[in-house]
Amino acid sequence: LRNGFDIKRYIRTIPDYPKPGVMFRDITTLLSNLHGFRAAVDELAWPFLKGEIDYVAGIEARGFILGGAVAHNLGRGFIPIRKKGKLPSRVIGQDYALEYGVDTIEMHADAISKGDRVLLVDDLIATGGTAGAAIDLIRKSGGEVVSAAFVIDLPELGGAAKLKAKGVKVHTLVSFE
Ligand code: 5GP
Repeated sequence: LRNGFDIKRYIRTIPDYPKPGVMFRDITTLLSNLHGFRAAVDELAWPFLKGEIDYVAGIEARGFILGGAVAHNLGRGFIPIRKKGKLPSRVIGQDYALEYGVDTIEMHADAISKGDRVLLVDDLIATGGTAGAAIDLIRKSGGEVVSAAFVIDLPELGGAAKLKAKGVKVHTLVSFE
C-alpha cells in the first residue's frame, strides 16, 4: 500500500465459519481500529478522488459500512444495494447463483439515471456472483460502473477476473490464497 500501512494484519481469520472448511475473513477487527478503518477507506477511495464518479453504491451489509465512508470521503452520494424485500420504494432486482440455489439483490428503480458514473464497493470479492449481479443492476438503470472496489480479493475464486471480463475495472487492497 502507498503509505506502508498494513491493513492485512487487522483482518482476522475465523476457521470453519459459516461452515466447516471455510476460512472466513473477518473485517470487524479492521473496522474497529481507527487507523485500520481510515486506511482502508482512504485506500479504497484514492483512485477516484479526481471526481470522475457521481455515486458510490454499496452492497449489504459490510459494503454499507465501507461504501458509506468512501462516499463521504469522495463527497458523493451513497446508494444501497440490498437483499430482497428490504427497500421501501419501487425496486429493480437481479438474481444470482449461490453454491446451492439463487439469491436476489435489489436497488431502488429511481436511484440511478442514464449516464450516471458509479463506484461499487463491498468488503470482499470471492466468486464475483454478488458484485456481478450488482453491476447488472446498475447497468439496467443505465448507469456506468466506473470501477468495483473491495478490501479483500480471493483471487483463486476468480471473481476479479470475472468482473474484468464484464468490462469493469477492479480495485482491491489485500488478497488471501
Ligand atoms: P461472492 O459473491 O464474490 O462469491 O462472495 C462475496 C460476498 O460474500 C460479499 O458480499 C462478501 O461480503 C461475502 N463473503 C464471502 N466470503 C466472505 C469472507 O470470508 N469474509 C467476508 N467478510 N465476507 C465474505
